[in-house]
Amino acid sequence: MSERSLVVIASHNRSKSREIEQLLRAGLSDLPVAIRLLADYPDAPPPPEENAASYIGNAVIKARACAAFTGAISFADDAGLEIDALDGQPGIYSRRFAGEATPFCVKMGILLEKLKDVPPERRAARFRCAVAIALPSGEVYTFEDTLEGRIADAPRGQAGFGYDPIFYVPSLGCTLAELPSEFKNRISHRAKVMRQAIPKLRELLTQSAYTM
Ligand code: IMP
Repeated sequence: MSERSLVVIASHNRSKSREIEQLLRAGLSDLPVAIRLLADYPDAPPPPEENAASYIGNAVIKARACAAFTGAISFADDAGLEIDALDGQPGIYSRRFAGEATPFCVKMGILLEKLKDVPPERRAARFRCAVAIALPSGEVYTFEDTLEGRIADAPRGQAGFGYDPIFYVPSLGCTLAELPSEFKNRISHRAKVMRQAIPKLRELLTQSAYTM
């Protein structure tokens, strides 16, 4: 691979895109690869409807739409928070839970209220993250991983995004929002699934002609 190849991150969520970008940069640092965010294309189409029944299905929808638009290798993730005491809610509806435009402090407040009588030992939860790598040909590769934890009794920490302030990691004794981003990026559901996906991405980049 002599010319620069291009990978586009198929997300309109800037906080999440930044995490993915950091992880991709670390995993591809020795290759001549440019990484762009779909959100930075001024004429990018609106996000496709995420109407699949699974995280992997939604990641595939986003990655394929991005690859068709950009003609580049495209990388998408879809993640959600699963709370056992709420039968896995909000799950694949994590973004839309209580209304897409509702601030996360309100969404987290609703979840904490639902769990107010649930003791710590029954507050188990996990973040699940699926990743899809799509080629402009439509070919797609998928991966999935989780981070286990439990729901805190109140939000704590300012870092991260989304539901991070209420996701307590027992082995670390803090919430994800209390961790510096470099640390979250080593242990998170997204970091774990990226460790699976990056070898495939490297293989595709070294074989393919998706140069800039
Ligand atoms: P999506 O993958 O962009 O559809 O995200 C699903 C929802 O889960 C969004 O509301 C995100 O804010 C939330 N979410 C995804 N990943 C994380 C994370 O790493 N920490 C906290 N919330 C997350």
